[in-house]
Amino acid sequence: KSIDLDELSAGLNAQQFEAYAHTKGAALVLAGAGSGKTTVLIRRIARLIAEGVPPEKILVTTFTRRAADDMSERLVKLLGEEAVVGLWIGTFHSHCLRILKKEWAERFGKEGRFDLADEYWQKRVCRAILGKMGDYKSLPQPPFGQNMKLDPKLALLAISTAKNSGFDCEQGETALTKIYPDWEEPQVHSVAKFWRCYEQAKQKEFDVLSKVPARRLDFDDLLVEALYLLRDDKKAQEEYLSKFDYLLVDETQDTSEVQWQLARLLAKKHGNLFIVGDVGQSIYGFRGCDPKRTVMGFQASYPNGEIIRLPANYRSQGTVVTVANELIAHADLDDRYRLLMEPTRLSAQEPWLSQHLDAEAEALWVVERLREQLSTEPNMAFRDFALLYRTNAYSRCFEDALINAGIPYQITGGTSFYNRKEVKDLLAYLQLSVDPNSEAGTEACKRILNIASKKFGRPTRSLGMGFIKKVEEQAEKNKCSFYEMLKKGVYTTQQEVAILDFRKQIKEIHEAGETAQTRLMAARLSGYDDFIVNEDGDSEDEGEGSSRLDNLDELVAASQRFFAPEAMLTFVGGQIRKAKDAGKGQDAVNLMTVHKSKGLEWRCVFVVGFAMNLLPHHRSLRYVDGELLPDSLEEERRIAYVAITRAKEQFALSWPQYHNAKALGPSPFLIEMPTLAPLVDDALRSQHKEDDDAQALADEEFEE
Ligand code: ATP
Ligand code: MG
Repeated sequence: KSIDLDELSAGLNAQQFEAYAHTKGAALVLAGAGSGKTTVLIRRIARLIAEGVPPEKILVTTFTRRAADDMSERLVKLLGEEAVVGLWIGTFHSHCLRILKKEWAERFGKEGRFDLADEYWQKRVCRAILGKMGDYKSLPQPPFGQNMKLDPKLALLAISTAKNSGFDCEQGETALTKIYPDWEEPQVHSVAKFWRCYEQAKQKEFDVLSKVPARRLDFDDLLVEALYLLRDDKKAQEEYLSKFDYLLVDETQDTSEVQWQLARLLAKKHGNLFIVGDVGQSIYGFRGCDPKRTVMGFQASYPNGEIIRLPANYRSQGTVVTVANELIAHADLDDRYRLLMEPTRLSAQEPWLSQHLDAEAEALWVVERLREQLSTEPNMAFRDFALLYRTNAYSRCFEDALINAGIPYQITGGTSFYNRKEVKDLLAYLQLSVDPNSEAGTEACKRILNIASKKFGRPTRSLGMGFIKKVEEQAEKNKCSFYEMLKKGVYTTQQEVAILDFRKQIKEIHEAGETAQTRLMAARLSGYDDFIVNEDGDSEDEGEGSSRLDNLDELVAASQRFFAPEAMLTFVGGQIRKAKDAGKGQDAVNLMTVHKSKGLEWRCVFVVGFAMNLLPHHRSLRYVDGELLPDSLEEERRIAYVAITRAKEQFALSWPQYHNAKALGPSPFLIEMPTLAPLVDDALRSQHKEDDDAQALADEEFEE
């Protein structure tokens, strides 16, 4: 396909064109959300290829795989399938994996093989380490943890952060003290010790099984090992430093220290490093990504580098831009990095602001708005809408409301609420408390018996699949239910103890009360909460502030609507079925956390749960003598900024007054956007009126 260069630069404004046309040396494109950073980066790649640079000489890094796929697609559209073959495009991790696989195999042969230490492997090893570290329950409470024990998930996050900041486990104490200045000494010690054990565990498989070496590398190791290789191995250095002539990095504000070192090293020879970023959108600080080193350190690293600012916003209609500017004006940013934008699109509809009694009411309102918008704008489809929330747990009411309305939706980077592991577990307990002998009861039985965990709280069972199979066979032979077979069968003493405990637990839950809610609470208190807290808390949120306990809280809140447990189980079964059917179509409303929405855009965006303690999330907030530390709001504000700037035409901010029995109140960020003030007033007033109406109605009914 012959490529017309004029076509590639068509429509770019002067600053965008400057970035597009930049060829030699380092350049930083610094611009706010929706100003065309990613667009310019893509067009620049296209131009380089069109001008004859072989695609394999270009290395591009994106923040997610989805972004990489999206970029490839857009490049193919511009240049055609053929032209982009050989291009290195992907996340830092994927590039490092590719380099290590090849180079280690060449250098060490069989010994150079490695496997990824995925989440499953990490979980297993964490448990072993905690066991080995002995009485870990007496370890000091992390200042951030909810429980009294070393939380492996938080320890892993700390280790990952430290590794990404360029430390190794020998420097454990120093690193952790530096990164977490408010940690106390015993805390630092225990995590550092945990870290050393963890590194050993990955190494060990390599030593013991050296005939079939299976050294484990976690995701951070990929970066660190690739960096060591390129830095210390002369041959690798020679090869890779001249392999690529052009390096391009998207979303630079959220690259870690190690990633940044990698990028600079790879560009050392020619210095052709083109990076784009927005300090106002850095939202991975909890993982140690600090734009101070990368974007803000650009000039120190590249004194002759060019800095290009893109002043115009092309994504969003005027009001979105105005409001986003107002919000980011409150960020604690040097004026050079506070990127206010000029709108290029006219203001269209007013944003929607709305306060509700609770999240259920909020969800109904969202669905109502969505339907209204679809009927007044015939050219809009489901896929033009997004619902963004701060944490995954908040999706529950919105999923329910969408399912009830028959609106298809898909969750990006997460599982739908009723399919989350802990939600399914708790519902299995509820099922068992209702009817352990039914088919569903058998499924529930197997599910609960399978939660194998020897050490931590209840369930204390570790019966295994073999046991379950055996019981199943016997039940069939004896023509009784699985649950009855547990009672009737002959088992080892150890198994008997476990079964007895299991049945006692189910009885306790059953006797706790008549309602779904009391039984769910009883199940949690009978040991399941302890189990969750102790096990590993592997919720899907990556440091997004949510946890599996939040999902359990949500489930209990959902049960309020039902009296009988049976009614709730039927309802949930229906929801899961309907969601499955609805999810099949391509055209669906998008649901995800704000973190997953980076770089994306939709015509209409609902930012839900825009309340104090939800966004900003209570786990990020720090208080001193009862006073909120403004510093702890910074990253949360940037998250709000990312959320609002995803909207092209319409955005809505809504929030509940109460959530899970806690009073919340609107997000403090609302008053930072004066343009919204009249709408906020309206929202507060109409909610009060709604409340009054509801109260009046209730009074009337009472009098009757
Ligand atoms: P973010 O910071 O959210 O990642 P960004 O700066 O990368 O945003 P893009 O995603 O590249 O912004 O662009 C935002 C939108 O503006 C896209 O829909 C893009 O097609 C459009 N756009 C960019 N530049 C222009 C232009 N010169 N003319 C018209 N539309 C443009
Ligand atoms: Mg972008």
